[in-house]
Parts: sequence; structure tokens; C-alpha cells
Amino acid sequence: MSISLIGKSIGESATLLLNEKAAILRAKGEPIIHLGGGEPQSKSPIDAITSFTGLLTSGEIRYTPVDGTIDMKKAIIRYMDEYYGRKFMPENVIASSGAKQSIMVALQAILDPQDEVIFPSPYWVSYPEMAKLCGAIPIPVIPEDGTFHPRMQDILQNVTTYTKAIILNSPNNPTGVLYSADFVKDVVAFCEKEGLYLIMDDIYHRLVFEGQKAANPYEYATVHDDNSKLIVVNGVSKQYAMTGFRIGWAAGSKKVIKVMSNIQGHQTAGPAVILQKAAIGAINGVQSGVESLRMTLENNRNVMLDRLAGFEGVKATKPDGTFYVFVDFSVYDKNSKRLSEFLLEKVRVLTMPGIEFGLDGYLRLSTCGSIKDIIKGIERIKWALDPNSPNELYIGERKLVRDWL
Ligand code: PMP
Repeated sequence: MSISLIGKSIGESATLLLNEKAAILRAKGEPIIHLGGGEPQSKSPIDAITSFTGLLTSGEIRYTPVDGTIDMKKAIIRYMDEYYGRKFMPENVIASSGAKQSIMVALQAILDPQDEVIFPSPYWVSYPEMAKLCGAIPIPVIPEDGTFHPRMQDILQNVTTYTKAIILNSPNNPTGVLYSADFVKDVVAFCEKEGLYLIMDDIYHRLVFEGQKAANPYEYATVHDDNSKLIVVNGVSKQYAMTGFRIGWAAGSKKVIKVMSNIQGHQTAGPAVILQKAAIGAINGVQSGVESLRMTLENNRNVMLDRLAGFEGVKATKPDGTFYVFVDFSVYDKNSKRLSEFLLEKVRVLTMPGIEFGLDGYLRLSTCGSIKDIIKGIERIKWALDPNSPNELYIGERKLVRDWL
């Protein structure tokens, strides 16, 4: 069987594999603690549900324009006005099946084979594979100062004549680090000067802690006409706890959005109308759920950091936002995939290996679960790894004996 070169280059997601493994174990009744997830556990907003069911019960579920219904576009335009202070035309926005598809069609619209796409490392797992799907070359940039906050010089050192685009995700998955306004400003200015595309993946921009604010790239942009190469991506998955609805969007120049829409037209013909309806409900509805999610995440982060502080040898960078804490476990195992598999096997805690995000020796721990899960999860990990822990641990009725240290 012959498989395409691009097909062969796309790696299997260890994250999805581990999720699957954990789900199978849980279905068998195993006491899994899920610190791997990238989705809030709260319910979708009631406004989303009522909009969705209203259309569903009408029984008239049809195709929509490829780039979103008029109402969907209006909701996106309102959102962009409210949170970015930018007034867009319907031709400037596209709704997709998740922010993931918006990013994918954006890359397909702008990349040629061999083009290079720069993004700071650690990075969201899909960026490299998405670039490769376009025949392009992913260029992850590791901040040289050992932090998770890239500096302009880190980016500049990696720019070549092949560079076509930069992707920034702030606050960042997996580190939770928020990029400073100065950095975003410099990247916006550099991209404008060099004619590079800048994709801002802002999916977590409202889930930021301690009164901080995600930088608004439009504040620094000077090109606002059809020559703009700034593409801002967002969606309902994270902020509204609507991961299963699969609605995201992008805002950009009419020219780029048109090409993205042409491409999307041959992929999915646009997101499902009932899902768009739900997203419209969420965007136009009561927003208190976003703030309560944000506060819960901040509290969960604090609890997790507190528990990790009592864990010898382990280092965590304090996240400014998102659902994640990216933790250095390299004193225990430099191979994050092996460590993650070990923790699932021995103490039934699901974590995500840092290598998936470009950095080995780290695990990404999620703060989406309950406080109880966070406390118990860290307790089990500590028990499994720290030789100073007692030799036995009870999980419910089950007594575990540590026989591997
Ligand atoms: N960007 C980042 C950084 C993400 O973490 C995710 C989801 N894990 C997405 C984009 C995609 O989100 P969606 O569910 O809207 O496709």
C-alpha cells in the first residue's frame, strides 16, 4: 500500500492515545484521575443549549454559507468589537469547525510547500503537524534564556527567506505563560515590516489570572486594510466550556478569509448549522460563566502550585492563564512519555508528556478537574515518585505497595 509523503510525516498523537487508554481503564472501573484534559468540566451555557434545541426541534437543519450564517458572523463581529475594539465586515470573518479548523485553513491559505512557520516552543501539539500537512516546515523556537517567554531575538534568529508566518498562542498551551504586550507589539511590527503573516491563537485570551490581560494585537497593528496579514483565531471551546460543539473562527483580511472559505468549502462545507446556533447563543448570551470558569481555574491553579511546592525536585512555572501547569519532572525521569505511561500504569493518573509539546522531562498537568482530583492526583504522583513517601498508598479499598524504587 502506498501512502503519501505528507500522510507518512504526520505523527500519531500520544495525547489522544493516552486519553483513549485512560478511557478504557475507566470503563473497566479503574479509579482514573484525569490531569490530562484540555476541557473545562462545567456545563455549556444555557443560552447555547436553548438556541441549539430551538433550531433542532424545528427539524429544519440545512446547509449554511461555507464561512458561517449571517447571525454567526454578526456574533463574531460583535465579539471582535467587544474584546478587541475592531469593527469588522462580514467578509473579514469565517466560522469553522473549531479553532483548529480555522488555523488549518489559514495555514493552507497562506503556505506553499517548503515555507517555514515559526512558533515559540513549547507549543500546542497541532502546529507542527498542521504546517506539515501544508508541505511546509515547522520551526519551533525555544527561548534561549531558559524561560517559557520568547524574546524578539529568539524569533529573529530563526527567520529566513523561507519564513512565511509566525504563530503566537498567549496565554500558552502548555505553559500557561502570557506573552507581554511589548513582545506582541514587537512581533506585530516585525511581521508588518517584513510582510509576514501573524496568526494569533487567542483561544485562552479570556482565561487569564490576577487581573492581567492578554495583549490585543490590533492595538499595535498599523495596517488595517486588505493588506493586513494579521489573522486572529478564537472559539467557544475553552471559554464557554463547549469543546464538543466544535465552533471556532478567524478574523483577517477579506482576501485571506475568502481563500480560507474556498478551502473550507471543499473540506466540510462549513460548520453544522445547529452548532453555529449554539455558539451564537453563547457569544450573545449571559457571560457570567466565563468569569466563573476563570475564577475556578485560578483557584485550581493555586491549589496545584501549592501541592507541587511540597514535591521535592519538581519545578513548576506559575501559569498566567489557561488550564495547564507545565511541570519539570526531569529529576525523576527525563523521558516524559515513559513517565506519563508509568504514572497511568502505577497510580492511574493521566498526565500529558511534555515531549508532545516540544519539551521532554516535563508533564502537562490540567487544572480542569475538581480540587479533589488535583489534590489526590498530585498525592498519587508524589507517592509513586518520591522515595521519601510511605511505602503504601490506598486508592479506595485498594492497597498499593511501592515496589519500584
Ligand atoms: N489552539 C490551542 C492552543 C488549543 O489548546 C486548542 C484546543 N486544545 C485549539 C487551538 C483548538 O480548539 P478547538 O476546540 O476550538 O478546535
